[in-house]
Amino acid sequence: MPARIGRRIAGTLLLAGLAVSCAEPVPEPGAGEQERPNILFVFADDHAFQAVGAYGSVINETPNIDRLADGGMRFDRALVTNSICAPARAVIQTGLYSHLNGVRDNSDVFDGTQVTFPKLLREAGYQTAMIGKWHLKSSPAGFDHWEVLPGQGAYYNPDLLYPDADTTATRRREGYVTDIVTDLALDWLGEGRDPDRPFLLMLQHKAPHRSWMPGPDHLTTYDGEAIPEPETLFDDYSGRASPAANQEMTIARHMFDVYDLKLEPQPGTDLPGWQASAFERMTAGQRAEWDAAYEPRNEAFRAARMEGDDLTRWKYQRYIKDYLRTIASIDDNLGRVLDWLDETGLAETTVVVYSSDQGFYLGEHGWYDKRWMYEESLRTPLIVRWPGKTAAGSASSAMVSNLDFAPTFLDVAGVQVPSHMQGRSLGPLLAGDRPDDWRTSFYYHYYEAEGPHAVAEHYGVATDRFKLIRYPTTDEWELFDLETDPREMRSVADDPAYAQVRADLEAELERLRGELGVT
Ligand code: CA
Repeated sequence: MPARIGRRIAGTLLLAGLAVSCAEPVPEPGAGEQERPNILFVFADDHAFQAVGAYGSVINETPNIDRLADGGMRFDRALVTNSICAPARAVIQTGLYSHLNGVRDNSDVFDGTQVTFPKLLREAGYQTAMIGKWHLKSSPAGFDHWEVLPGQGAYYNPDLLYPDADTTATRRREGYVTDIVTDLALDWLGEGRDPDRPFLLMLQHKAPHRSWMPGPDHLTTYDGEAIPEPETLFDDYSGRASPAANQEMTIARHMFDVYDLKLEPQPGTDLPGWQASAFERMTAGQRAEWDAAYEPRNEAFRAARMEGDDLTRWKYQRYIKDYLRTIASIDDNLGRVLDWLDETGLAETTVVVYSSDQGFYLGEHGWYDKRWMYEESLRTPLIVRWPGKTAAGSASSAMVSNLDFAPTFLDVAGVQVPSHMQGRSLGPLLAGDRPDDWRTSFYYHYYEAEGPHAVAEHYGVATDRFKLIRYPTTDEWELFDLETDPREMRSVADDPAYAQVRADLEAELERLRGELGVT
């Protein structure tokens, strides 16, 4: 007999009523009643859909993420409103675009007094927990339990913040961050929560964020293999507006030797503290395992004296293998969590979501990082397994968004979605029903022009087939036809054959900006 974790109540109509009067006692179980599902939100940082087996990856395997997809629904066009870490997290908490939730870039502090979906779930009787990477600067609000990485967090022996009386305390935990965050989540699931109430658990990984430091279990994974290169690794940025060429995020020219590429500092190098600190956190034993894996590779690299395209190709291999190694640990640890759900019988009453704060460039356009409205960073993986709701192994091509997460989780719990939220519940899509009025266009806005990687501010509108992008600083436009140019290598913004398409999209862009309150 599985442990009973959901409070039994009589259907979603009653639930919606409860949400607005949450102090009301919850009815006792009765015939024909159902449990409110638990929500387990497993979230990665910078995990590209191109590196998920279920999305057809040609560079890695993710058996446990695929296991989730096999039991649920894969969304093939899940888009983010602003492709960068903290802003994406603020969108998820609030269901609002950046210009309304106040986090436009990574320097903004999240105003935790806002309405968030965890607060609403908590008021409705859910037990709420946030474990792992938070990255919103202010302390987590709306959670019964939280333990989070400060800022970006560290891969090895990370510090974690937690509430202690009226203050925030810090403790260092020894081990690899992806394992530790999962251990803490399993501890809370097993021992830390009230088993008689449904839960929301946000299990949020640091990986595979830069600087892509593999864990002890995967230091030598992919050794001896050559990972396939993307077609556009040597993009020359012709055929697009000037910002594409004027960024600072190429694999060829913008990676740090020690921090990114894990080469030993050369004699006489004065290594900045922030580059050295990741390695200084390691124990002697961890460092010995690391060196055993990297020193022979680095010696071979130094001996080869590569330059030009050969050097870029080597950097790509070093980057992508480390990136994929960090994902291998995420996948292993997701397996532990899915096993736990199976073993406790909670799998049947728990909605499990796997997603990332945005996509990432895995060498496409010669890049790493994110930020652009181009497809690799506009899209993010999104897989939802909701037993009894999602058809096993299903997929949706509907244009969905991280704006939709908050409304979806509220809907799962039968809580009324506040009318100010700008997303929409995925509930109908998850049940296999695409509403006739589902969105057919999507507004995007990236603000952090002054931040790392020098990506210009831009905004635009995406549809199933087209994408119109506006760069206000340089007064330039791009228009892509994803049907004829899926890699987005040739803007047709000034092509007379696309004049009507462009005019229609410019009008749609203005309509969306007005509707969404963009000033
Ligand atoms: Ca991120």
